[in-house]
Amino acid sequence: MKTVGILGGGQLGLLLALSLSRLGARVVVYDPDPSAPARKVAWKSFQSSWTDLGALKEFAALCDVITYEFENVEISGLKKLNGEKPIYPSLEVLATTQDRIFEKQFLRENNLPVAAFFVVQSYDQLAKIEDGITFPCILKTATGGYDGKGQFVFEKRADLLAFIKEKPLPVLRAVIEEKLPLHMELSCIVARSAEGQESIFPVARNTHEAQILDTTLMPADIPAPLAATVKDIALTAAEKLGLVGLLTCEFFITRERGQSTSSVEVDGYHVFVNEFAPRPHNSGHLTMNATTVSQYDLLARILLDVPMVEPRLLAPGYFCLANLLGDVWLAQGTDVGPELNLQGLKNHADLVDIVIYGKESARAGRKMGHVVSYGLTVDEAVAAARNAREELARAVVGSVQ
Ligand code: ADP
Ligand code: MG
Repeated sequence: MKTVGILGGGQLGLLLALSLSRLGARVVVYDPDPSAPARKVAWKSFQSSWTDLGALKEFAALCDVITYEFENVEISGLKKLNGEKPIYPSLEVLATTQDRIFEKQFLRENNLPVAAFFVVQSYDQLAKIEDGITFPCILKTATGGYDGKGQFVFEKRADLLAFIKEKPLPVLRAVIEEKLPLHMELSCIVARSAEGQESIFPVARNTHEAQILDTTLMPADIPAPLAATVKDIALTAAEKLGLVGLLTCEFFITRERGQSTSSVEVDGYHVFVNEFAPRPHNSGHLTMNATTVSQYDLLARILLDVPMVEPRLLAPGYFCLANLLGDVWLAQGTDVGPELNLQGLKNHADLVDIVIYGKESARAGRKMGHVVSYGLTVDEAVAAARNAREELARAVVGSVQ
């Protein structure tokens, strides 16, 4: 029996652990948070910091292979494990994708399409080049950001000047990129084995609210040539990274070229890579319902050296995911994770899945669960998922689930 270590014990780790268990593996979870939800389904779990070399060594000693479900794992500790156990995707891939400066440079060096950007390493440097910057633009810290954290939007020069004056970040190491007039956002997940065998999931279309993923539609309702281009770019990126595991590629689609010279144009759509995640992705939860194998199943196969298959859509029509943030709990008048009242979903025949991650406490903006709907048309699928979520937010805590 193989033992797989997962660094990070959030919902992505929980769902990966379930797929690994179904293939007969044991799972060991490592997370600094004592209430990380993946612990519930793990054979063993560790609670320690990312830099606790002793705990990391003990963890690694139990595992045949290690993966991560969270990019902001500190690499310094893992490097000291001295390659004792294979880590997939590799630490080189993680180093590139967890740092926006390295990620954007990788895109540029490999002729992959990316929004116009430049790197800033200090407030002094930013003040010196400030008059050459065009607006609107977005400053994104090189490390530590997720769900829009670590981002500052400058609509006009005065916003940037105020930022330079206030110095809200203790250390400035960031990219500044053109704010694009987005027509839509897409994501595409590639799975790649150690032997270089590749599988790719249908392209998904994402909407964000306050920079947090709100809904995902699979398959994306886009022209076939656009879907083919997006898949091609995602596969190229995975190959160039030498990826073993999963790579989610997030894309921006515009109708205008913008300032970038590298965008790829297809049928009047301009395609840009936004960022990578070398792990299962929130938009990929849908693969548990929409495709013959899920992102978690394929990653489990790669980690356990089980042959891969190509995911196929299970039905004509569309699947739509709506994230349930802590706000839904708060609307029901509770911040206690297990207290969500699901009775509101009684009359939602198009709702095909409800997933609650089992987090202990709900906060605004915290990902706590999701619902998935199915419809023959985009509008039906999207409306069903949104309506179900709205219904939940109207319910009151108190009645039995
Ligand atoms: P995170 O790591 O938080 O997911 P992203 O860079 O993906 O960071 O940004 C989150 C969201 O913010 C994107 O999905 C998009 O909706 C918006 N956004 C980010 N960068 C840009 C940009 N250059 N132009 C327009 N919108 C952007
Ligand atoms: Mg993103």
